[in-house]
Amino acid sequence: MRITYNEIKLKSVIKGVCLKCGKTAIRTIVSNQTVNPFNRHKDGRIKSGQEVYDSVNNDLPLLVKRFKEKFICKKCEDNISWPEKWFDLTEREYIEQIGRKGEKG
Ligand SMILES: [Zn+2]
Repeated sequence: MRITYNEIKLKSVIKGVCLKCGKTAIRTIVSNQTVNPFNRHKDGRIKSGQEVYDSVNNDLPLLVKRFKEKFICKKCEDNISWPEKWFDLTEREYIEQIGRKGEKG
């Protein structure tokens, strides 16, 4: 039997000026997580569907804010080498930071 996990995904479309090429572009920012036995709270409890939704919903405005600070168009993003892929790296780091903050709060 194949198990499929339910993905919770929220999107936000933002318009900005690319830091690299200066062109105006529209990007879709996606916040997503799946409801699965490995998606747990820091204390080990498995997140419920509602809790996963809440995480995704909380992450989205943070991702949008982060992206707006370092807005880059798709074309420029595709053209930079991975160590320079600051958006991808900071996105992950940022989410981790948020996770740690949530743990304390
Ligand atoms: Zn660009």
